[in-house]
Amino acid sequence: MSELIKNETKKIYEEMGIPSKVYDFCDEIWDSLQDRFDKIREVSEFNQAKVLKAMQENKVSEACLLGTTGYGYNDIGRDKLEEVYASIFHTEDALVRPQITCGTHALALALMSNLRPGDELLAPAGKPYDTLEEVIGIRESKGSLKEYGVSYRQVDLLPDGSFDYENIEKAINEKTKLVTIQRSKGYQTRPTFSVEKIGELIAFVKSKKSDVIVMVDNCYGEFVQTIEPSDVGADMVVGSLIKNPGGGLAPIGGYIAGKKECVENAAYRLTSPGLGKEVGASLGILPQFYQGLFLAPNVTANALMGAVFAANIYEKLGFSVLPNGTEDRFDIIQAITFNDPKLLTSFCEGIQYAAPVDSYVTPEPWDMPGYDSQVIMAAGAFVSGSSIELSADGPLREPYSVFFQGGLTWQHVKYGIMKTLAVMYEKGLVTL
Ligand SMILES: *Cc1c(COP(=O)(O)O)cnc(C)c1O
Repeated sequence: MSELIKNETKKIYEEMGIPSKVYDFCDEIWDSLQDRFDKIREVSEFNQAKVLKAMQENKVSEACLLGTTGYGYNDIGRDKLEEVYASIFHTEDALVRPQITCGTHALALALMSNLRPGDELLAPAGKPYDTLEEVIGIRESKGSLKEYGVSYRQVDLLPDGSFDYENIEKAINEKTKLVTIQRSKGYQTRPTFSVEKIGELIAFVKSKKSDVIVMVDNCYGEFVQTIEPSDVGADMVVGSLIKNPGGGLAPIGGYIAGKKECVENAAYRLTSPGLGKEVGASLGILPQFYQGLFLAPNVTANALMGAVFAANIYEKLGFSVLPNGTEDRFDIIQAITFNDPKLLTSFCEGIQYAAPVDSYVTPEPWDMPGYDSQVIMAAGAFVSGSSIELSADGPLREPYSVFFQGGLTWQHVKYGIMKTLAVMYEKGLVTL
């Protein structure tokens, strides 16, 4: 029976551009990864229970799905959703809004609302995400923290990737008000930090200055482990709803979960002093926010399975992959280094051709604002720019690395990765 289905699947894949040789090569690797997949499923089972428990204990009701217009006073669904987020992250409060337009906005909001002129922001684990450079004022920008008199200090990681405790201690001073730590590596080559490791850094920082606010950029990390940074001392965790916690359904949005005072500051900044969380209509978006959150642990698990699959395929073909095929994962991003522009381009073509939307277009490298080289991006997503959906991008420069992430179902990521290899195979760039 199983053989029969497999042959049918192989046949439909062949019609969808996966040569038999590519399928056999990939499917053998897929089969060999079942123990890894079991571990990922174990974590997702825990997180599914955590999310469900939070929804049940907060008594989410049908009325919560309705939403409001205008000012949005007494939007019970919006307020309840924020309680659900606070339960999941074990925080005092949360702000979860469609008015938070993206991850960068959520992070900027958390920073700008909790820092005052004369305060200092410290990044103790190296440079934050690219888009935050203008928020902080590392790159000059209108309205940056720097313009408002907030100074910035950064301590880089040691060459072996560990925290430079000696210099972190030296960097903490009477002005240090807020410490920012990024969980995921983003587009850097350092490894992603585990929540446990982030906990060690938080403990150290707080032992030197107990009243400092610690914010963690949680993008791409939600539901990858059974604990979140807020379980190990972070005062705020911040992320985007078009990544993991939106489960692929949220069409916009960001969240800040944390201490009551931190969240209140953020709410006052998002809307207005005095109004805070009381206004902000949810319009018709709450069903997607709730249902997306409900699906998020499973979606994250599917994306992780795809990332592990890709790492093992390209490692077997001799490319350098980060994380490697066997190590533990703390976010959903997979980097593959091709050292060849043709392979990078082919990979992105494969991801695009595998998409449910815009599968017939070919991605081209383009001059993206803020980058010093051309960038190629592949995304055929239901939600524009969503990177919890299968997507890939890479700058057209040495060492020609691709960063790939997402996938709402494991079946789709599996097909997508096979498709990347099929494109290379048919161009004669790899031999199997
Ligand atoms: C995606 C991301 C951001 C920014 O989110 P946008 O939604 O793209 O603005 C910030 N930090 C990290 C680590 C990210 O992965």
